Amino acid sequence: MVINLRWQQSPVTLSVKPNCLTVSIEAAGGTSVYSYDYAGRLWTALVENVSYRRGLDGKMVAKWGSGEQRQRRWLQQEEALLVETQARQVIAGLVEGLAAGAVQPPVSLPAQAQRGFQAVLEFNEGRSRQDAARYLQVYRPVGILPPDQYMAVVLQATEGCSFNTCTFCTFYRDRQFRIRPVDEFLAHARAVKEFIGAGMSLRRTIFLGDANALVVPLPRLAPLMEAVHQVYDVEQLGGMYAFLDGFSAEKKSAGDYRRLAELGLKRIYVGLESGDDALLHFLKKPGRAADAVSAVRAMKEGGVPVGVIVLLGAGGQAYARSHVDRTVRALNEMHLDMDDLVYFSELVTDEGMEYSRQAYQAQLKPLTAIERLAQGEAIETRLRFSAGGGVPHISRYDVREFVY
Ligand code: SF4
Repeated sequence: MVINLRWQQSPVTLSVKPNCLTVSIEAAGGTSVYSYDYAGRLWTALVENVSYRRGLDGKMVAKWGSGEQRQRRWLQQEEALLVETQARQVIAGLVEGLAAGAVQPPVSLPAQAQRGFQAVLEFNEGRSRQDAARYLQVYRPVGILPPDQYMAVVLQATEGCSFNTCTFCTFYRDRQFRIRPVDEFLAHARAVKEFIGAGMSLRRTIFLGDANALVVPLPRLAPLMEAVHQVYDVEQLGGMYAFLDGFSAEKKSAGDYRRLAELGLKRIYVGLESGDDALLHFLKKPGRAADAVSAVRAMKEGGVPVGVIVLLGAGGQAYARSHVDRTVRALNEMHLDMDDLVYFSELVTDEGMEYSRQAYQAQLKPLTAIERLAQGEAIETRLRFSAGGGVPHISRYDVREFVY
């Protein structure tokens, strides 16, 4: 439901959707927009041409500009709390105006909007701090998700990565790999549901973490997935999703994937990174490209679509040509179709990363940002898909923008 108002001489739009409550205020300096989940958490905001996105962990990323000028900054905790406070003050002013009759809505506010505003006003700084602290009791910090899964409910069936060797990945270096026992996982799934609370309306799917969670052998994996069904309406939420590296994925058959599909699995994300085995070896990524190709074929034969991730810029100039040629070949051998996704993720390094040390020792010349993009285009233009199957959705994946 959309309600148009005037408040303090400004046009205001209230959008009362089943998943979130959004207030847009037009002003000479630009439109401000505040979106909340129904637990009262600020979800997104746009203020003075800066967009903000708050995660369930209370962290907030600010973004501004566009194209080459696009900028991003993760805010300090106090800065993030200030953005939340200022947003809440705007909402409080509007609610006061409505209560005092200074703002006259053309229709009476639906009960959902009234409950939503109440939740926003109650989600003060203290609550926000408590919420972020509770996140850390419920979760080991969620390392990464594919971009189309940022609004999932993450459930950590495993902790950490069973390999943890890839030189470009530091997401799970702080934890040992382990598979959660079913009872513990069930308690975790319930705690996550209680933590997200009324904010569950914003959530669209279930993502099984951490890392390559589907590495768990089927006899242990199936009871974990059945436990999810005990706590969540999986179909209504849009099914389950998870990562699996190509090397481990090879160890499951098409029949195993069919069973996972019956248990509600809708897509598996496979970090191919490259079709070049020499580059995979340099990256300390387990397995060979052929493992990922045959694993993807088994997944698709078992009725599970895939999302394949390619790492742009990996190996710098030295590997650039073989990375493109062999990645094209591997992707073309996967027989992807319109149900699948291909993500081009730019290599993001920092000085402490093992990749950086090894690239220095090997005297690799890195690709510039423009060359990385060109590498993605060079791969994309050579991809071939069958006429009957259609074309997978191909897009960019910037791990620096990940928010859960
Ligand atoms: S397998 Fe995946 S999660 Fe594990 S270290 Fe490699 S890239 Fe990271």
